[in-house]
Amino acid sequence: MSRRRGGLKLAEAEPLLPFPYPSFRPHQREAALFAYEVFKEGLVGLLSAPCGIGKSIAALSAFAAASREVGGARLLVLTRTKSQAEIYAKEVKRLRGAGVELSAAIFKSKQELCLKARLDERLKELSYQDFLRFCAGLKKGLAGRRCEFYEASVREGWRPTARALRLAGRLARRGASMPEEVYEACVEAGLCAYEVTKLLASGATVVVGSYNYALLPSVRASVLSRAKLKPASTFAVFDEAHSLPRYVVDLFSDELSTRSMQRAVEEAERFNLAPGLVEVLRGLLSVAVERGAEAKGEVGVDEPLLVEPMELLKGLAERAELSGLDELAEAVDELEAEGERVRALKEAEGKPPSSYVARCAAFLQSWMAVASGGGEIYACYAKVEREGEVARLGIKCLDAAVHSRVINAFRASLLMSGTLWAPGYYVDVLGLDRSRARYLALPYPFPRRNRAILVDLASTSKYERRSPALW
Ligand code: SF4
Repeated sequence: MSRRRGGLKLAEAEPLLPFPYPSFRPHQREAALFAYEVFKEGLVGLLSAPCGIGKSIAALSAFAAASREVGGARLLVLTRTKSQAEIYAKEVKRLRGAGVELSAAIFKSKQELCLKARLDERLKELSYQDFLRFCAGLKKGLAGRRCEFYEASVREGWRPTARALRLAGRLARRGASMPEEVYEACVEAGLCAYEVTKLLASGATVVVGSYNYALLPSVRASVLSRAKLKPASTFAVFDEAHSLPRYVVDLFSDELSTRSMQRAVEEAERFNLAPGLVEVLRGLLSVAVERGAEAKGEVGVDEPLLVEPMELLKGLAERAELSGLDELAEAVDELEAEGERVRALKEAEGKPPSSYVARCAAFLQSWMAVASGGGEIYACYAKVEREGEVARLGIKCLDAAVHSRVINAFRASLLMSGTLWAPGYYVDVLGLDRSRARYLALPYPFPRRNRAILVDLASTSKYERRSPALW
């Protein structure tokens, strides 16, 4: 005889779920059994369970049970916020305390784990993209700059140093360390905490990081390969998964303001970039101002007007007096390299190592990629903000599924949230494999009398009260 839960067929004998608390909360065991079946059967599970049920420990407990049956499996937990990641570290510690053999590596953002940023406050002020470029430049030794912590951690070809291996071994024996503990140990040892976390991840059964580790191809290639996590043999948990569609769209969209373009022109003049490159930046600024004015005239302030990406590039090449798009592409590559030089010079002046030239180059590279074949997935637009003061060019991702289909590549994926109420929507929008998708919605577990129902009388969706301003 078999029973069904969330569209799953369950074996008569339920698995022994390792659990570090005296008892399950209402519906928590159902959540854990659902996760267990998803992992064991290699499915894509959508679990909607109200906050407070204890989904994190339910998923870890399910993983511990499933991995006993599926040899060599590891778990990648992807979260949106730091506090979610820390919950997993605490629960892994509790499971270890209850005798379950798990070990965890918890990633924080590179900027937060950076030891150079500890010594140089300016690095904390950089945008994350600027910081990543700064760090990549140091690792490659661009413009003669190097990172002593990186060099103390890994040698060429990402071969860990003896010091890094010793520290990672010591931390691994603890089972699960909070990112702060790894960071402090790295401060003492003079090692890069991010690289040491990668080392720890290579031996951990549970790796916790941000959504980007699965969604961004470059991060996926770098972090998952260092952590020796192969999607085909890895279980993945996407926490707070209701936010995934919006997160993916934002992650693959971009905007550049005329303010940044103006600063790039000033930066290019101040750091003596070749006149041809300065003209490309001036051309970009002038087409953006023009397109912004068109948008304002046709659709008004703060409204995007679609722009044909190739047409804009041709106009830009003409303005910069370039022979065509090939020459424009070469100029953009040169701008990227010059941006790194500017970054190094600004750092030497005691300023934050940011570069508007590099920012414009990166944006133009994305725009060119869309122009040469991303037209169905992305829309390019111009708009004007604040009564015409600032114009923006933008690239909007229209199809999250193109990037989130990677969820299907994992051996099994579990998407969890307190509000995953419309599974069909998530299957469609995220491009989930329909044949492997299963859904379980658990009811609110707390006594109805304890619910606080708040009504805001100031808001209404009444038709008569709607006005054009709402749209
Ligand atoms: S390699 Fe590590 S310590 Fe060096 S800049 Fe990058 S994150 Fe910071």
